Amino acid sequence: MSLRSLALIVLLVPLAVFGAAGLMGWRVPVPVWGRDYVVHVALGAARAPLVLPPVEGPADPSRPLVVIDAGHGGRDPGAIGTDAAGRRVAEKDITLALAQALRAELLRGGGIRVALTRADDRILPLAHRPEIARRLEADLFVSIHADSAGDKAEVGGASIYTLSEAASSEAAARFAARENDADRLNGIAIAGTSPAVSAILVELSQQRTQEAALTFADLVLREGGSAIAFHPQPQRSAALAVLRAPDVPSVLFESGFVTNTTDRARLTTPEGRAAYAAALARAIRVFLAREAARAPG
Ligand SMILES: [Zn+2]
Repeated sequence: MSLRSLALIVLLVPLAVFGAAGLMGWRVPVPVWGRDYVVHVALGAARAPLVLPPVEGPADPSRPLVVIDAGHGGRDPGAIGTDAAGRRVAEKDITLALAQALRAELLRGGGIRVALTRADDRILPLAHRPEIARRLEADLFVSIHADSAGDKAEVGGASIYTLSEAASSEAAARFAARENDADRLNGIAIAGTSPAVSAILVELSQQRTQEAALTFADLVLREGGSAIAFHPQPQRSAALAVLRAPDVPSVLFESGFVTNTTDRARLTTPEGRAAYAAALARAIRVFLAREAARAPG
């Protein structure tokens, strides 16, 4: 997806959440690399009830859980490209196919529980995606996207995003204010504590979560080095709403550009997806093993 459209969605979601009533189906024109395209943001969808997806893999709830989020879906196609045969390639289809390939790879290896925020072509409110990971008490949240560079077909490569530091701090403060009565955050009881103490506890939790997210991003670059074609500047941070869970390490994997021939070939073939999924699964296994070794008890 394009960062600009994501940024717009980030700006619009709070509007929806905080009750901009009746604003269904806004049309937001988003200029992307000189090309205009239109994102349909169904603000009303953010008020839809949150439905937790099934958790697959081992029944043992002590096994680590990864929530994989296929970006976009339904009426929101994300970035759009065209393949050599003139067929439309939509980001929402790439993200779902890659999410499914990663799920299959993790389940094949065993020992890890997996849930997909969406397993078919449906619209899912942005705010629900990290919330699903939080409610399921996930150990890792991976949101999968693809990008567009408009007419700049030479622009290609994958990158991995973590939450920017300023956004992280701000998210922690906002979360503390909103969730002051929550009773669990990284195992820390914050119910009944003063707002100031809660804010500090949330901030600490968010810092630990951010460190873990950065560790995972490093691992993706290390494990994916030979299999994944990375952008020259592959590690980035931004104020992305899907990465704001204060207690679940979260990254956004931009798998490549739908407007780049090489990326498109990798992301739209089972072989290409399998190679990406295998590299991501290796990084996930190393990360979860390290986190388990760090955990108290
Ligand atoms: Zn996207």
